Amino acid sequence: MNSNEIKTLDKENIVSTYARYDMVADHGKGSYCFDMDGKKYVDFTAGIGVNCLGFCDDGWIRAVSAQLSKLQHVSNLFYTEPQVTAAKLLTERTGMRKVFFGNSGAEANEAAIKTARKYGTVKKKETANKIITLKNSFHGRTMAAITATGQDNYHKFFTPFLSGFEYCEVNNADELRDMADDTTCAIMMEMIQGEGGVVSLDAEFVKAAAALCTEKDILFIVDEVQTGIGRTGKLFAYEYFGVKPDIVTFAKGIGGGLPIGGALFGEKTCDVLEPGNHGTTYGGNPVACAGAVEVLKRIDEDFLAQVRKKGEYLKAKLLEIPQVKDVSGIGLMLGVAVEGKDAGKVVKDALSGGLMILTAKDKVRMLPPLTITYEELDEGLAIFKNALA
Ligand SMILES: *Cc1c(COP(=O)(O)O)cnc(C)c1O
Repeated sequence: MNSNEIKTLDKENIVSTYARYDMVADHGKGSYCFDMDGKKYVDFTAGIGVNCLGFCDDGWIRAVSAQLSKLQHVSNLFYTEPQVTAAKLLTERTGMRKVFFGNSGAEANEAAIKTARKYGTVKKKETANKIITLKNSFHGRTMAAITATGQDNYHKFFTPFLSGFEYCEVNNADELRDMADDTTCAIMMEMIQGEGGVVSLDAEFVKAAAALCTEKDILFIVDEVQTGIGRTGKLFAYEYFGVKPDIVTFAKGIGGGLPIGGALFGEKTCDVLEPGNHGTTYGGNPVACAGAVEVLKRIDEDFLAQVRKKGEYLKAKLLEIPQVKDVSGIGLMLGVAVEGKDAGKVVKDALSGGLMILTAKDKVRMLPPLTITYEELDEGLAIFKNALA
């Protein structure tokens, strides 16, 4: 098929939930993607923060292929080695106690929300089911996850939403304290609101939220679906904020491109879910877990230090560009406020110039593969400058 045939078939046969860019991706290697016509693009998207080792990384292919030819799936009624290996790497490196594996970010948050409600209603009192999230947050597309999402534009069409969710102003510790009562089972937040425009929370606010949770026996849930797995230069972004969550959710980067997500549970929460309470057929699939094991092994402390350095370099270079007003975010998760041109138009112009970038609200968002080189960053920056001009 050629690219026009593919675009036509897509329009005819696929539900148009995505406003796709005008590019048919064909293959990729490292930080480069190639379309059907062989045109090369520098990748500053990594999917949407998914391909943390870039396209078709050799070590990742070896790990995943080896598992694929050994055992592609077995139900969760049996044990497998890749699942426990991935779980052990996560618990060892975070000090969290146990993991539940699902297949996506929304499902990871569902697991967290269900756990919080069980914790509240069983350990506190029957009516302790309220979950406080933040305005401008994004937690996914399932019914519970869009309810948790604190943005009005997601709260259309699909009524009725779940009850028992309240939304607090970002960085308003007083409001949070007022909202948290004896019916509250959890407070849930992203450390950097990704879809919300790459908005970093104030450390003081995050600390106050965590302290409030400890004081009132409320679970502190951190959604690290976008910020986690090395994206910000730490394994998880909460490490920058000096807090210890009760539940951490993750997805995007962990499989290196395969669908896997999950929730990490701490001391208070690791034994809340019991047989029969929750589950998923595919969760913790051995091939996806083999991808996760490779990703987690590669993202060691040296690797993370490199991500921080590359992030600082990219941020500094971006700030030298006259049309760039501001750069938010940490590590290789950056939001760029641009002047004189709409972010959506910048993304399209960058794409025709050979650079893949994203938007986040009215900003340009950059989530390059964590393995990107300085030369590739420079190459992408040059195209970005042209797109802004
Ligand atoms: C992407 C994202 C989700 C949803 O993940 P899916 O895999 O699309 O379900 C949830 N939370 C945050 C912070 C995200 O960025």
